[in-house]
Amino acid sequence: MQRLYYNDPYTTSFEANLIEQATYNGQPAVVLDHTYFYPTSGGQPHDTGLLNDIPVVDVVVRPGDEAVLHVLNAAPTLPAGQPVHGQIDWDRRFDYMRHHTGQHILSQAFIQVANAETIGFHMSQDSITIDLDTPALKPAKIDAAEDLANRIIADNRPVRTWFPAESELADLSLRKVPEVGGKLRVVDIDGFDMNACGGTHVAHTGEIGMIKVLRVEKRGDSLRVEFRCGARALLDYREKNVLVHQLAAELTTGYWEIPAALNKLRDENKALRKELGALQSVLLAHEADRLWQSAAHLDRPDGYTLVIQAFEDRDVSEVRTIAQKLIEHPATIALCGAAGEKAHLIAACSDDVGQDMVAALKRGLAVWGIEQGGGRPTFAQGGGVAASVEEVQAALEAAAAHVTR
Ligand SMILES: [Zn+2]
Repeated sequence: MQRLYYNDPYTTSFEANLIEQATYNGQPAVVLDHTYFYPTSGGQPHDTGLLNDIPVVDVVVRPGDEAVLHVLNAAPTLPAGQPVHGQIDWDRRFDYMRHHTGQHILSQAFIQVANAETIGFHMSQDSITIDLDTPALKPAKIDAAEDLANRIIADNRPVRTWFPAESELADLSLRKVPEVGGKLRVVDIDGFDMNACGGTHVAHTGEIGMIKVLRVEKRGDSLRVEFRCGARALLDYREKNVLVHQLAAELTTGYWEIPAALNKLRDENKALRKELGALQSVLLAHEADRLWQSAAHLDRPDGYTLVIQAFEDRDVSEVRTIAQKLIEHPATIALCGAAGEKAHLIAACSDDVGQDMVAALKRGLAVWGIEQGGGRPTFAQGGGVAASVEEVQAALEAAAAHVTR
């Protein structure tokens, strides 16, 4: 089985003989006498494409005999020994060629600029990252590495890949010698970087187009650098450019003034919240006062002013504030409740009343069949179950029966 992509990553259309029909994880798969399809290996995802008209959905190296399995989404109609036509998805292949070569350049650039070695590499449809053996780098260093990498791209330097003989290998200064055994394949970016790698690469650095670092993220003792090359870098620039101009239009400002405009909005928002809080407090005090006045007219034989109020669609914190304001009046008992998905009861009294509001609350909660609640003798609250305004009213009246003498 010959892997022809090693010497020629640009051929995407080829004829080969089907030599074995197999299965892989329950799916049909075939082995060809030679192939240009790249199998998932060395951190680089597999190619996709067609064998005759059947989509190739995965390409893997079979453990044991190292055969390249082309995993298909349907069984082939041709028997072994017959020729098949292979077609590789060039956009996907070229994208990985650009990123793999770009990774070699960026890794060498970080060594030269920041003395930072690459200790990890991840490549997928969603993101491309390298991990550097340093916990932090100044933004200027990252820019310098990015600049150097893009100069190497602009140089359009030749990229050579070959399998050196043992004797030749000893004289090559590889960036990192892999621990895995077997025959080493060397990728040489002319005069800049030499490393062992089995992946697919471009023939000249200019084909990469550009390298852009998107962000860095500290991960323990290492630094993860996310980057994009070529068409993916352009797509990223396009999306962000649209976003930035949309933001600027929304803020009716130039894009360079977006941070200042956002700061101004944040400050305004903070001031408005403060003003709103003060107004709400005045409003709640007024509401509490009105409730107390109407209850105070009901001259009770025990001399207390008893306020019973069920609220609908009210924030519990507002109901709590109203109860607190009510019991600032002397000889006052406030039984308040908020209806809703998580209904809430409050039983409170001014210090001079001398009744146990926890016991009153428990009477109210018992109407709902729950016991979750408690507090001080002068201020108790609880709830948490769904209750309508009528059910809140019923609970408050049960609590009121407890405090009525
Ligand atoms: Zn490579």
